[in-house]
Amino acid sequence: MPDLIPVLTEEEIRSRIESLAKKISVDYCDKSLILIGVLKGAFVFLSDLMRRLTIPVEVDFVQLSSYGDSDVSSGKIKLRRGISTDLKDKDVLIVEDIVDTGLTMSKLEAYLKTFKPKSIKLCALIDKRQRRETDCRIDYACHRVEEGFLVGYGLDYAEKYRNLPAIYHLKF
Ligand code: 5GP
Repeated sequence: MPDLIPVLTEEEIRSRIESLAKKISVDYCDKSLILIGVLKGAFVFLSDLMRRLTIPVEVDFVQLSSYGDSDVSSGKIKLRRGISTDLKDKDVLIVEDIVDTGLTMSKLEAYLKTFKPKSIKLCALIDKRQRRETDCRIDYACHRVEEGFLVGYGLDYAEKYRNLPAIYHLKF
């Protein structure tokens, strides 16, 4: 059995999301905000973040995959589910669980640009830096780590651990 080493407690997650939501609510107060959640990993984060925003907001989801059941990205990113909302002239905030190499976000940004939104920014629960391969800019992040495979709070390993209320480093 792999070990679960605590990274962020429930309380730490709650307070970081609270601060992020306050900042986003100010930054987007006069804009047409739509959150685009990246399934499946970001659904828990998105639902907590969205309920703390104090401004009007729309929501849609995309599903991308590169990991399969492994802890290493295959590098081949597939769009499994596209958006179903008109993005023209809207201010898109992508809500992602973890940015690692950045390849998934580059692919998603290129896809979303084709719908001509007014702006696109990125909000990530975790900014994982060690293996970054792109210059993707993270506009809002809850927490930064250098390395390690994280699970819990929506993040899985082979579809397990998503239900854990806190975030852990899965040590094999
Ligand atoms: P990237 O394309 O930036 O390398 O990878 C992004 C995707 O890989 C994330 O959306 C996430 O699904 C997955 N991923 C990257 N690092 C981790 C991790 O530490 N834990 C989990 N559960 N997924 C990860």
